[in-house]
Amino acid sequence: MRTAGELADSSSTFHDETTPLAQATEHSILARRGAQGRPAPQRPPATRVVVVANQKGGVGKTTSTVNMAAALAQLGQRVLVIDLDPQGNASTALAIEHRRGVPSTYDLLVEGAALADVISPCPDIEGLSVVPATIDLAGAEIELVSVVARESRLQKAIVAHPLVGSAAEAGEERFDYVFVDCPPSLGLLTLNALVAGRELMIPIQAEYYALEGLGQLIETVEMVKAHLNPLLSVSTILVTMYDARTRLAAGVAEEVREHFGEQVLKTSIPRSVRVSEAPSYGQTVMTYDPGSPGALCYLEAAREMATKGADV
Ligand code: ADP
Ligand code: MG
Repeated sequence: MRTAGELADSSSTFHDETTPLAQATEHSILARRGAQGRPAPQRPPATRVVVVANQKGGVGKTTSTVNMAAALAQLGQRVLVIDLDPQGNASTALAIEHRRGVPSTYDLLVEGAALADVISPCPDIEGLSVVPATIDLAGAEIELVSVVARESRLQKAIVAHPLVGSAAEAGEERFDYVFVDCPPSLGLLTLNALVAGRELMIPIQAEYYALEGLGQLIETVEMVKAHLNPLLSVSTILVTMYDARTRLAAGVAEEVREHFGEQVLKTSIPRSVRVSEAPSYGQTVMTYDPGSPGALCYLEAAREMATKGADV
């Protein structure tokens, strides 16, 4: 099967879903894409640790984590996904076993296991590895309360990995991206992620009330910056589940751009059945239907992130 990257770089026409939405999406991608066969983005000079958070559930955190990660891997980057949600949805989408007992983020955070000992390779996508989350992680919010330096467990585990860091420190085999998929809350798990990451990516669903609740997230980010991680910044906003047929979606996207400006990726992710079906096959949309609008938009968003990040 061809990857979305190969499809986007070939001159073949896109997968034909003759809905107005699909057409609109195709159109905008074709317009934006410009020249065919663009080169893969360069590797960043050092590992970028990207936290994907929004305390609202169902806004596309997990979907965006796994698809951005898969897209970047297809673009030749070396990527690690850390599943920090006890639901383990990112693990499912990447076909990584996450029943009780498999080495997981719980071992990393609560038992003090080394990151290298809890990583599994994603079977379908070269260059992509995963730390799965098991249901044990649900107890970690409480178990961690009594642990020393409870908010910096993840950060310590990540920086201790020999393949995390600059080219000079970690060599050619280094991870280019570490994505952390957060649960829908602002508890100790998300706090660990915000202390560990340098970049925060916030998926925002193009829906009414999209910006509601974000104030609380931004306040938490400011608190973490002031006391725990001065390097943290909101680097990327991704508008998800965009329905090009509705004025509401366009209005929300515009409002998000007014509010966050430069940080908002130009590419929005359309609402697409293919995107939501993929996890039930243990896949990302990048392998499940690489020519679909959702896959092509995630690929474009990943390219944008890789290019923009050059100055992060
Ligand atoms: P979160 O991790 O923020 O809770 P998810 O990524 O699990 O959110 O997404 C919530 C639901 O929306 C899931 O059922 C997912 O399949 C669906 N979904 C996410 N993105 C899209 C999309 N672009 N098109 C259609 N469905 C989507
Ligand atoms: Mg999720």
